[in-house]
Amino acid sequence: MNVSGEKMKLDRPLVLATKNRGKISEFKDLFRDFDLEVKSLNDFGPIPPVIEDGETFEDNAVKKAQFTAKVLGFPAIADDSGLIVKALGGEPGVFSARYAGEGTTDEANNIKLLGAMKGIEQREAAFICILAIAVPRGPALIYEGTCEGLITEEIRGRQGFGYDPLFYYPPLNKTFAQMSAAEKNSVSHRGRAIGELRGELDKVLIWLGQRLAEEPF
Ligand code: IMP
Repeated sequence: MNVSGEKMKLDRPLVLATKNRGKISEFKDLFRDFDLEVKSLNDFGPIPPVIEDGETFEDNAVKKAQFTAKVLGFPAIADDSGLIVKALGGEPGVFSARYAGEGTTDEANNIKLLGAMKGIEQREAAFICILAIAVPRGPALIYEGTCEGLITEEIRGRQGFGYDPLFYYPPLNKTFAQMSAAEKNSVSHRGRAIGELRGELDKVLIWLGQRLAEEPF
């Protein structure tokens, strides 16, 4: 809310720095109660891809959000996520999407992870999601969500994507790939990061409004 008790309103669109339709619908759901014009990269002509070469999820999320905001001239929100496995020293980490090589598949990544974990008893792992919100110039805001679980010894379940069939979440006694989308969103790293941001969205919109007022339109 602003000082007069009205919901904060942005005078320009907020751009989701992704073309992924699953992520776009999760983010649009996040902003549903707010008077905001939300766009995604699918609403603009081709813009150069961001090279995700950061050493951390935060580096990559900030890079994507700042690059998109700068190129389009609108505030932008980006996420970066991945899996860290304790016994593998944090691998696959920022390489989660390309663990088995550039342009690889989820299946190949899962086979590689099962091979790397063969015979290892310590199976703790965590999914991490970082959200970054940026304006065309200046700093970014960061939100984080994590979800802890265990790496299974074989594929379990057919829902979801990525490492979902190998990520067992003890409180629900299921892998992510055995959960419905709603069930997964209620406990996942992305669901938690989005929940954190949602809880503070009024303040974030005020921050964005102030930052944007300092910049030319
Ligand atoms: P990005 O955030 O789209 O760059 O995701 C990086 C990679 O992390 C994905 O390609 C997946 O391999 C993995 N990952 C991220 N979130 C999830 C998830 O919710 N389930 C399974 N794998 C995930």
